[in-house]
Amino acid sequence: MNVIAKPNDIAGLIEADRAHVWHHLSQHKPYETIDPRIMIEGRGMRLWDATGKEYLDAVSGGVWTVNVGYGRESIANAVRDQLVKLNYFAGSAGSEPGARFAQKLIEKMPGLTRVYYSNSGSEANEKVFKMVRQLSAQVHGGKKSKILYRERDYHGTTLGVLAACGQPQRASHYGPFPEGFVEVPHCLEYRNQYPDAPHYGIAAANAIEEVILREGPDTIGLLCLEPVTAGGGVIAPPEGYWPRVQEICAKYDILLHIDEVVCGLGRTGTWFGYQQYGVKPDFVTMAKGLASGYAAISCTVTTEAVFEMFKNDPSDPLNYFRDISTFGGCLAGPAAALENMRIIEDEDLLGNTTRMGERLRANLLALQEKHAAIGDVRGVGLFQGAELVADRTTKEPLAEAKVQAVVAHCMKNGVIIGATNRSLPGLNNTLCLSPALIATADDIDAITNAIDAALTEVMG
Ligand code: PMP
Repeated sequence: MNVIAKPNDIAGLIEADRAHVWHHLSQHKPYETIDPRIMIEGRGMRLWDATGKEYLDAVSGGVWTVNVGYGRESIANAVRDQLVKLNYFAGSAGSEPGARFAQKLIEKMPGLTRVYYSNSGSEANEKVFKMVRQLSAQVHGGKKSKILYRERDYHGTTLGVLAACGQPQRASHYGPFPEGFVEVPHCLEYRNQYPDAPHYGIAAANAIEEVILREGPDTIGLLCLEPVTAGGGVIAPPEGYWPRVQEICAKYDILLHIDEVVCGLGRTGTWFGYQQYGVKPDFVTMAKGLASGYAAISCTVTTEAVFEMFKNDPSDPLNYFRDISTFGGCLAGPAAALENMRIIEDEDLLGNTTRMGERLRANLLALQEKHAAIGDVRGVGLFQGAELVADRTTKEPLAEAKVQAVVAHCMKNGVIIGATNRSLPGLNNTLCLSPALIATADDIDAITNAIDAALTEVMG
């Protein structure tokens, strides 16, 4: 396939970008000598840049977002129709797509009833933190205000959620942060912190209980976790972990918040990652795959019990959640999300994710047989990681330069893969694969073939 519409004046476009755009998560020094990459068009699993180079995208838009693939005209049409009818209204009124989407979403989330709209994963998570702080003041007399988060997890970029960041270098330089955020240990079995424990998953969950007891259970209002840790290393929780976490939250009356910004809307093969583990959360947040990047939308979803506490404050009958998100009223979001969900359902993308996820995993395990550099393969559905090591026995992480060389080699050969972000000192060594949920067997094989070739080249 050729690029569909090459831009005019490619050199001018690149120069405008080089001169004026500050790219996310990027060191710009190299652009003094090389051209920044500018993506122009996408169809399905494929993308074209300004030079006409074609890519197979194994990371759904760079950061696990374009779940239903590029170029979906039905989503564009749904957004267009909604914008022409009514583009926006915020504040105290509802909307047609907002009500319809909330109803459809809630059908997939037994036990949860209320949807609060905003625009980004960070914002959706911060809403939960604010709700918990308000409940602390309103219901618990100032107790239960602390928020627990886990080492290696990430919940967003604003100062509020960076206070709950388990990836140290993402937060360094940006303090001081709001108070009352406490870290609990990660649960990555490969880097076994509990070698003597008879059951790793239970030991990892019990480590959370230890923190709760140390801090005092009546000081803690919320435990916030990713269902499968994304940028922190593609960490699928060990067996036994989630049921024990649920028990601990119930025992100490701590609300459980699951950050589904990455796993939500099908990435693991169920609508939400927590549904793989039978967990019953009090809050679920979602963003990226919610509208597959066709509009900016995020949701904070909670239970009727939480909602009721904001309706029936004995100390102040007029009290309510004192929060607004201006663009939570932009109706392109729910219109796109509704059509995105219809596509996932009608095309059985959950089933495809399970099938293709198994293939991706099997291919990676076969590569592990061949390449000593692959120390661990882990993940769920179309969300898989391969941790690269310099030595399988000592598990010494592969040097960052080599990991990046593997990613660059794939990119040169037209396959976009990711690696854990550089915020985990010494542990930025996991290749991240999260193709769109429409991936075919040929796409999956092309992705793992590219990794095979890259490892052969980089590791010799
Ligand atoms: N939570 C998780 C698990 C994420 O991976 C991210 C973004 N990578 C966020 C929250 C923040 O989302 P956003 O960038 O939309 O604010």
